[in-house]
Amino acid sequence: MKVDLAGKVVIVTGGSKGIGKGIATVFAKQGAHVVIAARGQELASKLATELQALDYSASAIAVDVESYESVENMVREVAITYGAIDILCSNAGIFPSVKLEDMTTENWDQVLNINARGTMFALKACVPYLKQADFGRIIITSSITGPVTGYAGWTHYAASKAAQLGFMRTAALELAQYNITVNAVMPGNIATEGLDGLGEEYLLKMAKAIPLGGLGSVEDIAYAALFLSSKEAGFITGQSIIIDGGQTLPEDAEAF
Ligand code: NAP
Repeated sequence: MKVDLAGKVVIVTGGSKGIGKGIATVFAKQGAHVVIAARGQELASKLATELQALDYSASAIAVDVESYESVENMVREVAITYGAIDILCSNAGIFPSVKLEDMTTENWDQVLNINARGTMFALKACVPYLKQADFGRIIITSSITGPVTGYAGWTHYAASKAAQLGFMRTAALELAQYNITVNAVMPGNIATEGLDGLGEEYLLKMAKAIPLGGLGSVEDIAYAALFLSSKEAGFITGQSIIIDGGQTLPEDAEAF
């Protein structure tokens, strides 16, 4: 898939690992300058160096999307250094497991703050710069969990992922006048460092539940994000696309 992103400046939050790493890599290969934004700088810098070694344009920057000050400083630094922000991939997220009966206020707040409020922070901070782009693009990484499915241990996560979609639709309306589109990708189970942390049993169970035959790859999500970021997708806004290998299709476990 060829999308011309030459000269575009792209921020990928959570770009150091997993799906964000896949997005950063695919977008860099299309000619964009990708800014890999995460808390941990070791992996972010390592990826930037690897991409630079392949003659792609990339840099790493520290951000914690829990803090508006951190997000605003990061975005300002990117705009000053690279002169523009054209595309935001708001992807940073966490998925710790806690059953409802054990849920503390801290558990709830941490997940909602990083996943949902962090998305709002990233958009709010980037919008002044995206308004100046030829066409601004925002891609939010939501999930099937929450908007479509449920999974024990993830009431807080599911709420955060559904919140992102509700937020996205109104953001899309507000930003349409500036030629900025706002869309979401909804991954199913994708092989990432974060998902690995859920353990072998979870991974095997999920792989069996996917009609297309196993977990998705980070590139599966990145190419959907790439299409939504393209000039050609300019009439699509406020929409979401499920990329789950068919996991949400069967009416029962024996249906495929
Ligand atoms: P991952 O492998 O754990 O990577 C998460 C990334 O987010 C890392 O770069 C991490 O870097 C960053 N991050 C976490 N908290 C942050 C914070 N407060 N501020 C800035 N960066 C932060 O996770 P993943 O599986 O790729 O998931 C990425 C996104 O996809 C999440 O939004 C997740 O909900 C969504 N998703 C994943 C799947 C899946 O199957 N993998 C399915 C549906 C949705 P640092 O820790 O260094 O900050």
